[in-house]
Amino acid sequence: MHLEQIPKNKVSYEKTRDIVNARFNIAFVYRRCDTCSICRELAVKIGIIQQTLQNVTSASDSQINVQLPSKLRMLNFEKEVHLKQAETFYSDIM
Ligand SMILES: [Zn+2]
Repeated sequence: MHLEQIPKNKVSYEKTRDIVNARFNIAFVYRRCDTCSICRELAVKIGIIQQTLQNVTSASDSQINVQLPSKLRMLNFEKEVHLKQAETFYSDIM
């Protein structure tokens, strides 16, 4: 009985998006790539380094004090490039 009231032909995602956009002024927005495996991996690496740097006392280990900040800059750069690529990809297909 309940199933009989539901239309048999399914509406596509695109059609639903267009209708919702047009009638309700609600935009379908892709989140800025914060859930892909690359983002998660970078976030974990960045988090570990930040945590380590917080726990390092100023003169405890010069190698850590030199290497980690540069590694952190590299990872942040990598993340920025990745997000830009993702943004370009999504704006091209939308
Ligand atoms: Zn990503």
